[in-house]
Amino acid sequence: MDTEVIVVGAGPAGSTAAREIASRGHRVLLIDRAEFPRDKACGGGVSVKTRELLPFDLSPVIEHVVTGIILGNPRTGTVTRETGEPMLYMTQRRRLDAFLVDRAREAGVEFLQGQVVRGVEARPDGTYEVRMEDHEDHASTHTARVVVAADGANGIVGHAVGLARPLAHGVALEGNLPCPDGIPLWLQGHVAVDVALIPGGYGWLFPKGDHINIGVGGWADAGPKLRDTLDSYVRTYGWDPGALRDEAGHQLPLQPKGMRVAKGGVALVGDAAGMVEPLLGEGMYGAVASACALAPVVHRYLNGACADLAEYQQAMERDLRPDLERAGYLADILHAWPGPLVWGARRSKRAWWAVAALMSTGRMARADGLLSRVADATVRGLARIARTSLRRRHLITE
Ligand SMILES: Cc1cc2nc3c(=O)[nH]c(=O)nc-3n(C[C@H](O)[C@H](O)[C@H](O)COP(=O)(O)OP(=O)(O)OC[C@H]3O[C@@H](n4cnc5c(N)ncnc54)[C@H](O)[C@@H]3O)c2cc1C
Repeated sequence: MDTEVIVVGAGPAGSTAAREIASRGHRVLLIDRAEFPRDKACGGGVSVKTRELLPFDLSPVIEHVVTGIILGNPRTGTVTRETGEPMLYMTQRRRLDAFLVDRAREAGVEFLQGQVVRGVEARPDGTYEVRMEDHEDHASTHTARVVVAADGANGIVGHAVGLARPLAHGVALEGNLPCPDGIPLWLQGHVAVDVALIPGGYGWLFPKGDHINIGVGGWADAGPKLRDTLDSYVRTYGWDPGALRDEAGHQLPLQPKGMRVAKGGVALVGDAAGMVEPLLGEGMYGAVASACALAPVVHRYLNGACADLAEYQQAMERDLRPDLERAGYLADILHAWPGPLVWGARRSKRAWWAVAALMSTGRMARADGLLSRVADATVRGLARIARTSLRRRHLITE
């Protein structure tokens, strides 16, 4: 065995898992096929609850702080709502991910980049052999007691040891509009969101340092129409879709109920575990939160306090899965009846505050006690009716 833990994939899930495990005193090798800094299809919006999970200051890579939201688009009419406090931090993944890897290296993680993991095999002694190749096809292997699959939506590690892939229910496409004269005043401190644009999702404008990230995302069936939807969304603002740079699309993997995220000494985190939240399409919180939930279990396993990583499966079901499920119910309700809900959020300040709290901190989903159980039961019941309605209208198939 040449290290204790191998983490495959250095996105937010992998770099966080590697850092959290190394900071508990273990030898960790973090591997990514890309050379860093590298880009990743993503709006780069970091929620308050994600930032709160990170034990260091993210300011060096925050390009814009969002305190308000513009609902709708110029063609259908817009409403601006303010929170008066930060609700979303705007980053670029190229910079954010390199920054998170640097924090992992400071904690003692060894980082191997430009190495594509090709396979993982369990050995009779309970360790794992990880096979990889560099970009000139030079092969090498490393062994470890624990392998963390943080290799994203199309990851191969979990599959290699017999863990199923998450469902890819969402798709999104985004690009960057350069703003050489700065972000327009009306967008400064705000994001623009249009939920009526696309079935199962929304269109967004995210202001960054010198450009606006513009994207659309929705249910997988919307895939073939994403390009046209993005172009027409850009035009509603009077901009030329041809001016978009670095366009990229990707899947948004969702965790099906009961999905196995640990087997022996292998565990899935982030997109590899389907941690994207179905209402907002936010994946970085789930990436960081699943990595933070896994690290103490890995520590106990390496110290002989448990026989495998099953405690991570329990932590997933107890602490992380309920929020994903609740967001899934709310997504079904929103997309079954977008009209009344958008109307409510645009006209009622109370409805707006509920949405803002959910977006920034997930607080709405964390209320305790009887009230929360009643609210949960109501949401579950409405979601069941919503799903039936969506199925009848052929908006979803399963
Ligand atoms: C268009 C779009 C917009 C989005 N906007 C937001 C947003 O604004 N906010 C938000 O919170 N979420 C957003 N998401 C979701 C978010 O991008 C993901 O959920 C998040 O990146 C998941 O992090 P991760 O670390 O699990 O995986 P990733 O970030 O995908 O990282 C996986 C890493 O694994 C590496 N890798 C893969 N296979 C191998 C291999 N075989 N060998 C070695 N390395 C490998 C890859 O190179 C990559 O670096 C968006 C997604 C899309 C598609």
